[in-house]
Amino acid sequence: MSTDRNHGKPGRGLPLHTKILIGLLVGIIGGLIAHSIGGTVKGGEGDANSNGLIDWLDTVIYWAEPVGKVFLRLMFMVVVPMVFSALALAVVEIGDLRKLGRMGLKTLGFTAILSSSAVLIGIGLVGMMQPGKSLGEAQRQKLLEQYSKGASDKVDKAKEAKAIRDTLVDLFPENPLQEMVGAVDGSSKGNGMLAVMVFALVCGMAITTKPDETKTFVGFLEGLYEISMSVIEFAMKLAPVGAGCLVFALAAQLGLDILKTLFMFVITAVLGLGLQLFVVYGIVVMIFARMSPISFFSKVSEAMLVAFGTSSSSATLPTAMKVADEELKLPTRVSNFVLTVGATGNQNGTALYEGVVVLFLAQVMGVDLSASQQFTVVLMSILAGVGTAGVPGGSLPLIVVVMQSVGVPGAAIGIVLGVDRILDMCRTVVNVTGDLAIAACVARTEGDDAASLENPSTRTGDR
Ligand code: ASP
Repeated sequence: MSTDRNHGKPGRGLPLHTKILIGLLVGIIGGLIAHSIGGTVKGGEGDANSNGLIDWLDTVIYWAEPVGKVFLRLMFMVVVPMVFSALALAVVEIGDLRKLGRMGLKTLGFTAILSSSAVLIGIGLVGMMQPGKSLGEAQRQKLLEQYSKGASDKVDKAKEAKAIRDTLVDLFPENPLQEMVGAVDGSSKGNGMLAVMVFALVCGMAITTKPDETKTFVGFLEGLYEISMSVIEFAMKLAPVGAGCLVFALAAQLGLDILKTLFMFVITAVLGLGLQLFVVYGIVVMIFARMSPISFFSKVSEAMLVAFGTSSSSATLPTAMKVADEELKLPTRVSNFVLTVGATGNQNGTALYEGVVVLFLAQVMGVDLSASQQFTVVLMSILAGVGTAGVPGGSLPLIVVVMQSVGVPGAAIGIVLGVDRILDMCRTVVNVTGDLAIAACVARTEGDDAASLENPSTRTGDR
């Protein structure tokens, strides 16, 4: 893509993640105090027996919630344009990848394997640790009331087990526009966003067959993608207040219980990310790059730290390239190619996180997912890892999409948003290290042939 996607510019004043952490702490402490005093959400009107302080608290909770919701809706509104443009453009670039032959195929192969292992680790851990089940029944009912107006329909719909055979057929939409509408409000008859994703992939493939005739349309898609990114940036500016308000409202209503559940969720996600990072990547670099994992991790530590600090694969790209060149000593042609493609196309940490969030929230909301729905989550999380922009919070709209498609109310993402930024920092480390691991493996398996390939950075633009 030709437009600039480096969205991780440093801002003035405190860094955004520090502001979010402050918002989060204020939200948690304020919410717990409100809970202990006895605040609830009653539509802003105190009940007959309450005193002035409780009335005041109710009003604060009543107004804190919509602020959090506006933050969420800014992201919801770009779900369809972002998913469609990102995936179609990814395929257009893969068209270029194919031209690069063997190296492109190897990169694609490693990406597919590492993303699948990531999602399976995440989903397996949620199944084992059951973080969402630690919430009491009374709290669960409160959440259901709050997040799922009319949710019982959706939960019932989710319980309607669809055979894997039908899920596969429904991947191909009869009417993509209808699926787009249904994907967002959860009313889709087919596979919703998954079908939209397949439509985007098919369009992308069609574009690669007529590159000259479709230049204008590709330009339009790039514009649409950039607009979506800008809206997410607006949303992230609201994040310190938005996340704080969401956590405040949650803690005020549910007290320490929800924090314990969230803590279990964070532990599950971090454990999964740690396994993918140290075990899976460790094994992969040992086998394919013939490198000791300890030396690999110590060499890439600078890129890992930058990824942690910026929460953005795109912003870490220059550091990752420097590390590949100066520390790993990879041929520039291989590392430029793999890292630029990987910064948005290979996001294993994000794929793992998406699977964990969706299954966790399904547990919290009491939605039992059938085998075909779990299959949908795996498939969509892998695709979402490809379609996610390498910017802070880039995966959030896609998580909503995966949730909706299996009957978990999208608004329930508010439950995890308060802790999302911390986990975003962690998953970005996994994303970036994954790109470096693939670069090391591809470079090793390519050997000297790599030097004979033309410089790919001119083809892949800034990705
Ligand atoms: N922040 C992530 C990245 O840049 C994307 C995400 O998972 O939200 O890699």
